[in-house]
Amino acid sequence: MVDLKGQYQQIKERVDTSISQVIDATAFINGPEVKSFQKELEAYLDVKHVIPCGNGTDALQIAMMGLGLQPGDEVITADFTFAATVEVIALLQLTPVLVDVEVGSFNINPEAIRKAITPNTKAIVPVHLFGQAANMDEIMAIAREHNLYVIEDNAQGIGSSYQFEDGKVAKTGTIGHVASTSFFPSKNLGCYGDGGAIFTNDDELAHVIRGIVNHGMYKRYHHDVIGVNSRLDTIQAAVLRAKLPHLDTYNNARRTAARKYTKAFEGIENIITPKIKGNGCQTNENMMCDSCNCHVFHQYTLRVIDIDRDALVKHLNEAGIPCGVYYPIPLHSQKAYQDSRYKETDFPITNQLVKEVISLPMHTELENEQIDFITKTVLDFISK
Ligand SMILES: *Cc1c(COP(=O)(O)O)cnc(C)c1O
Repeated sequence: MVDLKGQYQQIKERVDTSISQVIDATAFINGPEVKSFQKELEAYLDVKHVIPCGNGTDALQIAMMGLGLQPGDEVITADFTFAATVEVIALLQLTPVLVDVEVGSFNINPEAIRKAITPNTKAIVPVHLFGQAANMDEIMAIAREHNLYVIEDNAQGIGSSYQFEDGKVAKTGTIGHVASTSFFPSKNLGCYGDGGAIFTNDDELAHVIRGIVNHGMYKRYHHDVIGVNSRLDTIQAAVLRAKLPHLDTYNNARRTAARKYTKAFEGIENIITPKIKGNGCQTNENMMCDSCNCHVFHQYTLRVIDIDRDALVKHLNEAGIPCGVYYPIPLHSQKAYQDSRYKETDFPITNQLVKEVISLPMHTELENEQIDFITKTVLDFISK
């Protein structure tokens, strides 16, 4: 699914030198690389504050703690996403409210958000799934109307841009009140272990969060709030500093691969290729454009119609091609997150997608021959 080794070979010298320097300096925790990475990422994203932390799940949890959400507060998020999003909501004894997604973008459906709002709703967590922004025009409008926080889960979207209806453009993760991301190795900006970060333009919230990540300390050994211990290791920051300058190139390589996949499946009735929903791409939803950053293809996810998806997975695996099903089970059906308030009829799209989706290998080192072999193997199965 990913080729981290090929990517490492390209930046090996810089990475190895930076890691050695951290070890030589024995500055493993809070070394100068962490602060430098923070500043460089702030500049890249054009956001006032980046607060590095231990991983993307912590980042979400800490963002919610920073906002002061209280047990019983309802937090609306998508039914079709990785479990981390709903997990931290539940861990903090907030009430997760799962809603359905849109069939074209796989992202949270603004109409479903509207329907789920109650007097207890405090926040919305859009996930920019597979590397494409959720409908932030609508989501921000709903939040303003109902006085809600917006926490962007940008673990899959780093480097992507969102174009608002009025033409303004902003990087995902800088639009809501606060955002989280993950530097898990396979993410678009991945380190060589665990890592994550929180972003915000709110000075006061950034201050609160900087204390929370460090045991609730704002002054050494004075614990003003209950915090956690969640840090980005200096070695990971050094790796990320080596990779950040290449992030746009990496995302371009993903988009180029995605375009080749899409081209190969053009006109095939049983295959629905990813749709671009951004305003900047409205006339070009098969993303045959070069320049637009509205999708960074963390995953290249097809929908297969009238085809046994699981048999296709098996067929690809037998040909030596890895593929993934993200996600096979709706969150509302997971044992841990069942809730009597949900009805199956609330989730027609998620219930459909879990049966149709298949994600093909996607990374920065995909070669034409590999893409040809993968698409040919898919098409062989379809024409059988
Ligand atoms: C990867 C991911 C996370 C969690 O990140 P970790 O660093 O693995 O904790 C959260 N949300 C989404 C949507 C993700 O893809």
